[in-house]
Amino acid sequence: MRSIPLLAVDATVVFDEIAAAKHQPRRGRMQAARADVLTAYQSYEDAVPEVGELDEAPLTDAQQEAMRHAFNVETAPMTALRGDLLKRISVARCPFCGISESSTLDHYLPKEQYPEFSVFPKNLVPSCAVCNTRKRDRILDEGTNVRMFLHPCYDVIPDIAFLRVRARMEGDALVLSYRLVRPAGMALQTFQHLRNHFDELDLADRYRRMGLEHLGGQYPALRRAYGPGEDSGRVAEKLVEGAEDFEEVQGPNYWLAKLYRALAGNDDFCDGGFEAVRPELQPH
Ligand SMILES: [Zn+2]
Repeated sequence: MRSIPLLAVDATVVFDEIAAAKHQPRRGRMQAARADVLTAYQSYEDAVPEVGELDEAPLTDAQQEAMRHAFNVETAPMTALRGDLLKRISVARCPFCGISESSTLDHYLPKEQYPEFSVFPKNLVPSCAVCNTRKRDRILDEGTNVRMFLHPCYDVIPDIAFLRVRARMEGDALVLSYRLVRPAGMALQTFQHLRNHFDELDLADRYRRMGLEHLGGQYPALRRAYGPGEDSGRVAEKLVEGAEDFEEVQGPNYWLAKLYRALAGNDDFCDGGFEAVRPELQPH
């Protein structure tokens, strides 16, 4: 979970280009919806990040279908927009999870309910397939009315530590468990929002699995730091350095930074327990 920059593009120009595109079969319907769509764009910008309860634009069924179609059909301007949104290095890694490659565009407000935002660049968030699939068409938690997911372009991720991981050795195996903890001073609603996002995207389990996978790749470096002198202090030091590098670039709640810190503080792991992450020893 992290923030990403908006694409510098004029949403009205994008709409007009897509509506006027060659091979745009729904041109007339899009034109008829234009005023309502642009009004909806303005409401979205006025409300961000709290877009969870926006009124739906008064489009006819045919106009709604035309708007969704405008996203799905690969006209030249739609293809260009998709490319511009996804090709940026700053969004190459999915901002919802921070794990996988961004390969799709997620409609932050789902186009089923809000077809007016089908081609609105600010509503299109680069996302990995796993997050996009898990997110589906949900917006608000019905019990609390708090939004289910962070909007990576608008929500400010708190700078105080809220992600924790516990690392422990069980026999020869390393067991990781990620969870969220509400820091002193964080508003309950902010925490509920973070927790919805964390739970609904199954981040605890995804971080655990990808963490173990990542550590497999670090095994040679851990082994080297330990050396023939079995220097557990050096292993801990290397892990702290790694954590600091991650924190500097990704912030204090980056899942790998947390993992490195937890492992640096685990004497058993540093004193040879890291053998558990040797790729050929991990469960198949
Ligand atoms: Zn993701």
